[in-house]
Amino acid sequence: MSNEDISQNLSSIQEQIAETCESSGRDPKEITLVTVSKTKPNEDILEAIKAGQLHFGENRMKELEDKMASIANPDVVWHFIGNLQTNKIKYIADRVNWIHSVEKAKYLKEIDKRAGQANRVVNAHIQVNISDEKQKGGCKPDDLARILESAQNYEHVKVKGLMGMATFTDDPEDVRSEFKLLKELFDSHQSYNGGSVQLEHVSMGMTNDFKVAIEEGATMVRIGSAIFGERNYG
Ligand SMILES: *Cc1c(COP(=O)(O)O)cnc(C)c1O
Repeated sequence: MSNEDISQNLSSIQEQIAETCESSGRDPKEITLVTVSKTKPNEDILEAIKAGQLHFGENRMKELEDKMASIANPDVVWHFIGNLQTNKIKYIADRVNWIHSVEKAKYLKEIDKRAGQANRVVNAHIQVNISDEKQKGGCKPDDLARILESAQNYEHVKVKGLMGMATFTDDPEDVRSEFKLLKELFDSHQSYNGGSVQLEHVSMGMTNDFKVAIEEGATMVRIGSAIFGERNYG
């Protein structure tokens, strides 16, 4: 993707976010755009940084580890959005800012331990399976309360919200109910706030469905291909 395209795509997406907020009575300041740079080269990330973007999402731990090390920009906020593995958390917990994909209590424990060794705090979202597709990952809605309970006393991981991925579909209207479900779970679990849990964010919406997600209450949208172009894999 050419440099010019990346900054144009970024402003186009920001405009669309602002328009969607306006038409649904929301404040654009409530929305954090996480640009998903998975599979894309560091040059593309640097170009987006030049255009003013600071939040980047990656879904493979090794790739994130490499990119955090080579970009080495303290202003960049890194988000991990892919499958976690206990034995690899140590490679990212010393630098990553957000992990959106915590689907088990044991991952919180490991993040707390490893972030603690690096003397830092990692923000986490609990990923909930809202599409009922096994390959999407995430805990069952019924497991959410137990995971939030387990998180109350950590010092180095703070649970800040919920994350969900909707079913892939051509018509984003098809997945409105899935986004509604995540927002309902977010609202109905506010009683677990306290200690290390403070539910403030709903991370949902990607290139094809971010407008519907914003209409349904998203505060973080994760957008890749609309900014960096189609991917060959990942
Ligand atoms: C790849 C990915 C995205 C971005 O997808 P696009 O359709 O390219 O915007 C968002 N969230 C997660 C978890 C992803 O893996």
